[in-house]
Amino acid sequence: MARYIFIIGGVMSGIGKGTITASIGKILKSKGYKVTCIKADPYLNVDAGTMNPTEHGEVFVTKDGVETDQDIGTYERFLGEELSSLNYLTSGKVYLSVLTKERNLEYGGKCVEAVPHIPEEIISQIKKCARETKADFVLVEIGGTVGEYQNQMFMEAARMMHLKEPNKVLFVLVSYLPIPQTIGEMKTKPTQTACRLLNEAGIQPDIIIGRAECILDFPRKKKIATFCNVDEEDVISSPDVENIYEVPLVLEKENLGDKILRKFNLRAKKKNLLDWEKLISKIKNLKKKVKIAIVGKYFEIGEFTLLDSYISVMEAIKHSAWTNNVLPEIVWVSAWEFEKSPQKLSELSNYSGVIVPGGFGKRDVEGKILAIKFCRENKIPYLGLCFGLQLAVIEFARNVANIKDATSREFSEEGELVIDFMPEQKALIREKKYGGTMRLGEYKLKLFPKTLAFKAYQRFYPQLKENPVVLERHRHRYEVNPEYVEILKEKGLVISGINPERDLVEIIELKDHPFFLGTQFHPEFKSQLLKPHPLFFEFIRASIKNLTF
Ligand code: GLN
Repeated sequence: MARYIFIIGGVMSGIGKGTITASIGKILKSKGYKVTCIKADPYLNVDAGTMNPTEHGEVFVTKDGVETDQDIGTYERFLGEELSSLNYLTSGKVYLSVLTKERNLEYGGKCVEAVPHIPEEIISQIKKCARETKADFVLVEIGGTVGEYQNQMFMEAARMMHLKEPNKVLFVLVSYLPIPQTIGEMKTKPTQTACRLLNEAGIQPDIIIGRAECILDFPRKKKIATFCNVDEEDVISSPDVENIYEVPLVLEKENLGDKILRKFNLRAKKKNLLDWEKLISKIKNLKKKVKIAIVGKYFEIGEFTLLDSYISVMEAIKHSAWTNNVLPEIVWVSAWEFEKSPQKLSELSNYSGVIVPGGFGKRDVEGKILAIKFCRENKIPYLGLCFGLQLAVIEFARNVANIKDATSREFSEEGELVIDFMPEQKALIREKKYGGTMRLGEYKLKLFPKTLAFKAYQRFYPQLKENPVVLERHRHRYEVNPEYVEILKEKGLVISGINPERDLVEIIELKDHPFFLGTQFHPEFKSQLLKPHPLFFEFIRASIKNLTF
């Protein structure tokens, strides 16, 4: 019998509602309950795959191949569990399902209307997730903020669920309390207004989490309690923290977990946040740094959007750096700069390691290839993620295997297409079937013994010796062209992992280099705080060795 907690934002977006949802999940899990989280996004896109990450943030990929909002990645990293398509709702997905049912005569001749059919569909999808995951708690984060037109159907679904089963549904309002510079005082009015808007939607919050620069003092809590109709002890502070993984600890300082359990007449079965506490306090005392460059097409995008576009890569670097007892310093380096003035490439020597992350399209590709060449020739640790593998193969083909016009079909129809699409992709592109049709989700990766990749995985999973097959997540349309594999191998490119079912190249590496490795999949999607990804871990180890700091 699942309980449902709706997490709703007030005042403004971008205050870390996803992190708070994930943290509540982590806390309840640490008390012995099975938890799952759902992100309910208001947009009409059926999934996040058709959106530009610079607009919407990173596209995360679940094991079952759904392209989701980045919050699903945050939930996975906090819960330490893999989620699936059950954990992601969008208005588009819900409407598509209702309209498909209507076409199939599943409404028995009735007039199909936004209300109640859309909220009913939302409720049925939330319940399906509860049933299939067998969770004790289903946390539902409603995207956007209260008062918007876009997320009204999700609010309506939440209200209807509460009406039917008031003892099984709880509402948490995550609000923001500004401290205007000229006033110098924390103001509660926007939170009061947000609460009133929520009341208009028929919802009374049970708990209010106040996001602010610092903790909420007693007068502030009292004011919110009085005007928003909650107990003082149910107004919880969530001040800014340096490290997002601290948030569960901060919320637990005010006993949020037990307060939630009490509202459901439940008790903690155990208490177990110790491993996180230990790691967080260790991180606070780290001094040594490892400086990693991420080379991409950032020109005119601005750093602000970047942080969101590559959130899983950043988190994967952090997990591995912390486990290696160093602090990561991540620097965004624009590939365009290298294309414009190749003499700037020497600046890459100032970094301990270089990453070329996933990417799409032709722009700034030559600059990235120059950076990869520089890393190969100057023995700088290099990790290529998806696009970063494809470009490393092109660089190797051109400059080592002497295939001068080596390229990818993504940029050109002419030249030697060392990167090409699989036959089935051709038909999809011809018919403009772009949504959800890339090679997505988990596929088998078979590792070859005695390679750098194999050793890296074995460090974490010694049992791989018997059966060196793991699962990794994908999101790409193009592959290393099998026709060129033999010649590239002859020239020294090491294929250290393949997909055993289709014989596709999954990992490439180089000998006589401290660390030069590219993956066709995205290892960053599987990295967790207490379980870093083996390839990121090995890359960071090599980077630490590269430069003494
Ligand atoms: N653009 C490349 C492809 O579609 C790489 C994709 C990626 O880096 N995720 O194959």
